[in-house]
Amino acid sequence: MAELPYAPTPTLTAIYADYEARQGDGFRDHLGASILGKSCARALWYDFRWVTPARHSGRLLRLFETGQLEEDRLVRNLRATGATVLEVDPETGRQFRVEAHGGHFGGSLDGVAIGIIEAPKTWHVLEFKTHGVKSFNELAAKGVALAKPQHCAQMQIYMHLTGITRALYVAVCKDTDALHIERIEADSAMAERLLDKAGRVIFAQHPPARISEDPAWFECRFCDHNAVCHEGGGAATTCRSCLHATPVEGGWHCARHDRMLTALEQRAACNRHLFIPDLVPGAVIDAGDDVVSYRMADSSTWVNDARTTEAAPC
Ligand code: SF4
Ligand code: SF4
Repeated sequence: MAELPYAPTPTLTAIYADYEARQGDGFRDHLGASILGKSCARALWYDFRWVTPARHSGRLLRLFETGQLEEDRLVRNLRATGATVLEVDPETGRQFRVEAHGGHFGGSLDGVAIGIIEAPKTWHVLEFKTHGVKSFNELAAKGVALAKPQHCAQMQIYMHLTGITRALYVAVCKDTDALHIERIEADSAMAERLLDKAGRVIFAQHPPARISEDPAWFECRFCDHNAVCHEGGGAATTCRSCLHATPVEGGWHCARHDRMLTALEQRAACNRHLFIPDLVPGAVIDAGDDVVSYRMADSSTWVNDARTTEAAPC
């Protein structure tokens, strides 16, 4: 007999719906150190330009939260070994933060620690991650540098920008609760290369090359930007996708209104928004004040016209 499809209870549906209602757009003000190790620079550029809003299921959002909740327990575990763990910067009372490229690149550390049994006098950057069993087994077999280069890149950046020479990577298997702990040595050459990569992404006028032209390529299949990247169009309308906006030292500048933009304004955009031509699946055939015309792939014409509305006070 065929199995009956799983029917979630109203309570379960409501719990997931609560997570989904609170998820926001997922846009981060800066390019995060935690994602810099992504293999596709174009995906990073799309992230930084807020091209695709986050749309995660309630179940997945709860799973992300599980990873955050695990951090408190790992801190307790490390303290039980005699380590001194600082989760926040005593000077600010907030998480330790690093920044570069005029504030457009940055990240927050899970903490720093001294008194680690293997090297008690050395400060360590702490990085906590949870893994599914397959990922955890690969990590245990190969080590973080080979199994999770993205996590390794994150730690190299944190070490470089804090001046701390070691990192302690603490991984938890979500299926068995087994731990994997590894010390990482700072590699300033690698960190410099990563920072250069961040700068190239942040200040690129055009999206970098695709990692593959095939939308079915495995990295593309799991990429949030697949539709925008391979099918064209559909980019979110924010200042970050507008041809008038440029990242400058300390923020974003709008050339159309000749002023800096707050994060709130960037999310809202104004009615003079014009898409960066690379985000439109067509070729520019004409352009004027507040208007750009495109020849689309099917030979039709599409006019990105910002003249048709009253100029809003921006
Ligand atoms: S769909 Fe593929 S090529 Fe496009 S941004 Fe994503 S990973 Fe890169
Ligand atoms: S023209 Fe409007 S949408 Fe474009 S960058 Fe300036 S404020 Fe943002």
